Amino acid sequence: MAGCAKPISQNSPTHAAAQIRDEVVTGSVARSASARLEQSRPSRIFGSGHLAGRTLEVASTADIILRPGEVILTFDDGPRAGKTPKILDALDQYGVKGTFLMLGAAAKANPELAQEVARRGHTVGSHTFDHANLANLPRQAALDEIARGEAAVAEALGGAGRLAPFFRFPYLAQTGFLRTSLLHGDMVVLDVDIDSKDYYKESAEMVAARTLSRLDARGSGIILFHDIHQRTVELLPDLLAELQARGYSVVRLAPKDSGVFGRSVITAELSDV
Ligand SMILES: [Zn+2]
Repeated sequence: MAGCAKPISQNSPTHAAAQIRDEVVTGSVARSASARLEQSRPSRIFGSGHLAGRTLEVASTADIILRPGEVILTFDDGPRAGKTPKILDALDQYGVKGTFLMLGAAAKANPELAQEVARRGHTVGSHTFDHANLANLPRQAALDEIARGEAAVAEALGGAGRLAPFFRFPYLAQTGFLRTSLLHGDMVVLDVDIDSKDYYKESAEMVAARTLSRLDARGSGIILFHDIHQRTVELLPDLLAELQARGYSVVRLAPKDSGVFGRSVITAELSDV
């Protein structure tokens, strides 16, 4: 499976506010993915020596507001045998929590792994059933694909954990219609501030260095990884060590406990849109 994201034009603005027109929104890796408080470059003055940060409970995409030095770690496309457990071990080593946007097909094929992710305290969201480019599908087919992915991940989790209504577009390819539909359906669309590009055929060191460089330039943000690549497994322990050394903290993203989340498959209702 190809990487999650597509090549981006670094400066094309995408606003969190959903567009009304049904056009493909490109350049989804945008500065606006998570709102930032006014900030200067994080320095070691932020460093507490503890990488684990606060828990941020969100009911909407707009609730994702990070402070200087805060990062959210996200892992797409899994779970995958041989890779995801090692990612979990690295996160455990530093006592930090990530958000895993699982493919329905992958969760269905590895339900015990999906359950392990949830049991170890991480947040589980969805990423369609089989990584379709939703911007290329008819509206209803795209909504069905999202709902099918959610249903499969929720079923794989069983009683091990609750599926968070968090969603990320494959290839970060969205349309205004789809984004608006999800937001109206009480889904939290997870955008990306820093794409590690861990799907590039590069060394783990190069991927880590680029990720840190982009994070330093931005100061905070949502980082995109994939728990299906060996290089991600290899780079994560050192990257976490470096985040700690540079004074960052890893925010645990969680769904705000409200009535909205009593539903196991949020997007099923969207079929009528
Ligand atoms: Zn993906």
